[in-house]
Amino acid sequence: MKKVFLKIVNLFYPITCSSCGKDLISTSQTRICSMCKSSFSFINGHICQICGKSLSSGGEFCYECKKNPKGRMFDKMRSVYEYKGSVRKLILKFKYSNRTFLAKDFALDMYETTKNNDFYQESDFIISVPLNIIRKIKRGYNQSELLADELSVKANIPVLKNVLFRKKITKPQFKLSRAERFENIKNSFFVKNKESIIGKNILLIDDIVTTASTLSACSSALKSCGVDKIFILTLAKD
Ligand SMILES: [Zn+2]
Ligand SMILES: [Zn+2]
Repeated sequence: MKKVFLKIVNLFYPITCSSCGKDLISTSQTRICSMCKSSFSFINGHICQICGKSLSSGGEFCYECKKNPKGRMFDKMRSVYEYKGSVRKLILKFKYSNRTFLAKDFALDMYETTKNNDFYQESDFIISVPLNIIRKIKRGYNQSELLADELSVKANIPVLKNVLFRKKITKPQFKLSRAERFENIKNSFFVKNKESIIGKNILLIDDIVTTASTLSACSSALKSCGVDKIFILTLAKD
């Protein structure tokens, strides 16, 4: 009876793969079909032990981390996918076209990456990178916050929402050069309720990392308030 009911529901409200549009079964827990998922560019080869960058020729650290090992404001960064191909298109839909339900699917892959890293056991709290208020109002949601909420449930690590804030209205980063990005983002985050994070380890969540200028600025704000270690997990690495 239930099966028949679900079939009828599916006829009127078909559940389709968000990537290729193929029909999924009505009871599907995922919005991404297995074919599409297998086409995603997961980062699972040799990586830099600090920033998580893929290292095709092996070694422990990438050129930048080796050159300046203390230059990173964070302790470790990992990303789930390379930001390209079909998964890039899907992340853009998630970010700009209201496909907020994709947070569930993406957080599942983030959880798998978390489990494979030692920072899983060490993280006390999850914090997501805040959007500036104008952009959050325009978009209606903060995609990194949605990922953090879903990951928190799966990984059983509490989220802190009243700690990290964005100070001033900054220009969209993608319009700027690398040097301009660092200048634009520097000092644009601040911390409230710092007593809750003193001596703690934070798992910082963002959707895409490009130059890591935003994530470095967040890390710096948190560390200056007494955070011990900062681990970063992003959905994709550009
Ligand atoms: Zn598909
Ligand atoms: Zn590196």
